[in-house]
Amino acid sequence: MKKILVFVLTGWLAGCTLQRDPAGETTAGITPAAAVDRLLEGNNRYMRYEPIHPDESRSRRKELTKGQHPYAVVVTCSDSRVSPELVFDQGLGDLFVIRTAGNIMGDIELGSIEYAVQHLNVPLIMVVGHEGCGAIGAYLKGEHASGHLKTIVDSIAAESEIKALQVKGDQILDHFVKANIQHGVREIIQSSPVIRERIASGSLTVMGACERLENGKVVPLNSN
Ligand SMILES: [Zn+2]
Repeated sequence: MKKILVFVLTGWLAGCTLQRDPAGETTAGITPAAAVDRLLEGNNRYMRYEPIHPDESRSRRKELTKGQHPYAVVVTCSDSRVSPELVFDQGLGDLFVIRTAGNIMGDIELGSIEYAVQHLNVPLIMVVGHEGCGAIGAYLKGEHASGHLKTIVDSIAAESEIKALQVKGDQILDHFVKANIQHGVREIIQSSPVIRERIASGSLTVMGACERLENGKVVPLNSN
């Protein structure tokens, strides 16, 4: 049974071209700081309505059949207004993206991030929340959630950063959105020894950011 499972898993990974980089080197070839600059420069183009839509060519697609070398992990919300390749004006093979409603951080998300760090040597992880997040809003309203949606709301409710907040008033959602981003950043660092090692060696940065819906600007919150 175990052998079958390993075979299926290996086959699935190969089918998704999620193989270990043969060289084992920093495949993205850029520093964490350069990766941040590249993302924020792309976001600036998006904000100005001047996207260049990089890495979407026929040759890029062909090149990527040999393997992927993304330079950043972006953890963000499933919300249709915050698609990272559009918001950061990036193309195929540039970003390793993890999306859930409310950019929740659980074992599956953390496993996906560790894959990108360990096997693709990605130098940057950015957790991007956004204004007006419906998942955080649902938690705040205390709406009855049923089915699997309840899992998301319960996950938000269990975050220590969310529990610690004592705010009221008009901007309350913004505070909770930011607390959720901070939770994501902390969870990534605290729960993953391999990620902490990379941070200590200077080859990885984990940071949070929040996107404004009105102008599309992604504002960094913090970094390690
Ligand atoms: Zn959202």
